[in-house]
Amino acid sequence: MIPSLLPVFSRINLSFEKGEGAYLFGSDGRRYLDFASGIAVTALGHAHPHLVAALKAAAEKPWHVSNLYEIPEQTRLADRLVANSFADTTFFCNSGAEALECGIKMIRKYHAAHGHPEKYRMISIQGAFHGRTLATIAAGGQEKYLAGFGPKVDGFDQVAFGNLNELRAAITPQTAGIMIEPVQGEGGVRPNAPEYLQALRQVCDEFGLLLLFDEVQCGMGRSGKLFAYEWANVAPDVMALAKGLGGGFPVGACLATERAASGMTAGVHGTTFGGNPLAMAMGNAVLDVLLEPGFLPHVVAAAEKLRKGLVKIVAENPAVYAEVRGEGLLMGLRCVAPNGEVQTRLREQGLLTVAAGDNVVRLLPPLTIGDAEIQEALAAVKAVASAWVVQA
Ligand SMILES: *Cc1c(COP(=O)(O)O)cnc(C)c1O
Repeated sequence: MIPSLLPVFSRINLSFEKGEGAYLFGSDGRRYLDFASGIAVTALGHAHPHLVAALKAAAEKPWHVSNLYEIPEQTRLADRLVANSFADTTFFCNSGAEALECGIKMIRKYHAAHGHPEKYRMISIQGAFHGRTLATIAAGGQEKYLAGFGPKVDGFDQVAFGNLNELRAAITPQTAGIMIEPVQGEGGVRPNAPEYLQALRQVCDEFGLLLLFDEVQCGMGRSGKLFAYEWANVAPDVMALAKGLGGGFPVGACLATERAASGMTAGVHGTTFGGNPLAMAMGNAVLDVLLEPGFLPHVVAAAEKLRKGLVKIVAENPAVYAEVRGEGLLMGLRCVAPNGEVQTRLREQGLLTVAAGDNVVRLLPPLTIGDAEIQEALAAVKAVASAWVVQA
């Protein structure tokens, strides 16, 4: 008999009654160090006092009025995202996939509005993950997410990761833009070389294409910069955000330059829930903390400590771990041992992580992580390796 919850997730038999900073307290009576962060969502940890206060204050005001009316908190968050990014304008939605849908539609509309409706195809990258809607599974191109859901949505052409020649060869008169995660998350925490991202910018300018960065996972401070594209010193035309944006409250955003958004006039796109006052209060509260002087440098320093510790453990345990990679606190531990088993054993050691493609275990701690927590995580990673070798 089918359970009351659609069985599309293979869940771990564990729930949590309480969260505090980097810790979750499980139904099994144990305390866990949360380096999963609900898949890079709870960027400031659990029950952050500033976020709790903001949510309580917002709860006393109108929760929802729809985009038929002005929403001052929404304007404020848009102004602040624009002031702190390449973008001139923002559309708020409720998830990463929706932010990408908006970005894809915007790029198609741009070309249509400029007399080129035939330009509708996006080039995407193998191993990408852009969400689970019909268009975003086509963009991601992964057979395991496409199988059985009918004809793949037309308009997406995939090229190999990091291969500029293949990408240039894939451009046709129908190409509208290029979409890419500056750091591939789900696919195995694979950062793109800055030179490659810079080359994509040049290719877009050369062929009149628009560049869409999917920063749903690597954005909002996770890389150590507010946006990961800053490390490559190259700006996109359109950018999708979600995950960390609301610190645990569901919210997504599609940011764009004035030029890229020039086809998006009243009525061509919309949302009922997107940008509602509760979500906007949380987005503003998260941004308050991320923009505090010293916060992002703290992320960089914490990431460096974690990375150094992991590199040492990997070098000492080549039978279990292969490589540390990533950007900032979007860190991947590529394993020799099966990543699912490593993840289970880390959890038994009290450390929560997330598996990714390419046999990687993702370490996604809250950006507020401190020294003691880093040491605790490293001890767990080390303990798993030591026990593995003894058993083998
Ligand atoms: C999680 C993710 C998405 C999809 O976000 P949802 O909120 O699950 O729709 C898209 N792109 C990237 C890079 C992601 O990590």
